[in-house]
Amino acid sequence: MSRCSGCGGCVSSCMVWAIEMDENKKAKRNDLSCMSCRECEKVCPEGAINYGKVKG
Ligand code: SF4
Ligand code: SF4
Repeated sequence: MSRCSGCGGCVSSCMVWAIEMDENKKAKRNDLSCMSCRECEKVCPEGAINYGKVKG
């Protein structure tokens, strides 16, 4: 998640609460909850998320 700036935008964009911030203030996605709607991808200002996945 090197590109994640920790803005938290994706966390509030996710309607199923599948994203939380980890101990390093980087977005972390719960694969079991994610339904791949890609809403988080649209709101991320850093382009850190692609195809609903939080990039490493
Ligand atoms: S793609 Fe997954 S993590 Fe992203 S907003 Fe949709 S359900 Fe949440
Ligand atoms: S993944 Fe993008 S939207 Fe989510 S906290 Fe990081 S920079 Fe913000």
